[in-house]
Amino acid sequence: MSKERGFVYGPVPSRRLGLSLGIDVVPFKVCSYDCLYCQLGRTKKKTIERQSFFNPKEVLSEVRSYCEKGGRADYFTVSGSGEPTLYSDIEEVVEGLKAMSDIPVAVITNGSLLWQKEVQDALLSCDLIVPSLDSASEASFRYINEPALGLELPRIISGLADFCSKFKGRVWLEIMLLDGVNTSPEELEGLKEAIEQINPERVQLNTPVRPTRSGLAKPVDIDTLRSIAAVFGDKAEVIAAFKPKACAQGSEADDKSILGLLKRRPCRVWDLAAALSVSPLLLEKSLERLERQGCVHHVRKDGELFFTAD
Ligand code: SF4
Repeated sequence: MSKERGFVYGPVPSRRLGLSLGIDVVPFKVCSYDCLYCQLGRTKKKTIERQSFFNPKEVLSEVRSYCEKGGRADYFTVSGSGEPTLYSDIEEVVEGLKAMSDIPVAVITNGSLLWQKEVQDALLSCDLIVPSLDSASEASFRYINEPALGLELPRIISGLADFCSKFKGRVWLEIMLLDGVNTSPEELEGLKEAIEQINPERVQLNTPVRPTRSGLAKPVDIDTLRSIAAVFGDKAEVIAAFKPKACAQGSEADDKSILGLLKRRPCRVWDLAAALSVSPLLLEKSLERLERQGCVHHVRKDGELFFTAD
């Protein structure tokens, strides 16, 4: 099976990782969850069955070609348009990336399969794992994440804890907070206990600021995020929106790069400008033209303009 959109995308300006070269190792929206806050629409195939979706050599060859052309990145980030640990050859990809350069390797995962020994083993040589956990209560977990059959919350939490106890790299646990859903004192108490059990290096609090698949996923305000961080203690931090340090003023992005990013995630103009190192003004012109051609659409979310592509 080949990958229509290619395996490599970006580099994307990441709130946490700086310039992150995305490596997408699953077919579009194959995932063990169907989260309310997903930016990619509904899950097309909900499963916990791991598969060799693609040839790992093809994945690595695309990354190698990016590097050989002088492409830069602060992180190789295995993630993308579904749950990357469903890819049964992820270990070969991680090992290949580690052998290719000194760029650290991160995996962004929903954490739902980390109770499986083969998944734990596959990720042990990574530098950073960013798993998510949005609730420690069964009802909210099912409501927010809509997990596949066979996934049980206590097993997921103990799997995360077990992995953290063995892993030599860094683990940053991400919690997506949804207004009125997982922010009650009971929810926060449950999450606090789960954090103590899992013992990650950091706890990162997020809230949906981009368009999501469901209007039920409402963001919490920054003051609430800060007070929740205080409840969780010193490890907790609010992930601030990434601000580009500087954008080139004169260069223009090619349509392929713009569409490649927009097909994977909705972006604001400055997200794209930072990712592609191009002028926001020229980018706006390209986006207008691509929108007239029907290749790009815009959507408003909380007063901000996001662009997407099919
Ligand atoms: S947010 Fe991540 S884990 Fe949740 S449905 Fe989307 S791809 Fe899957």
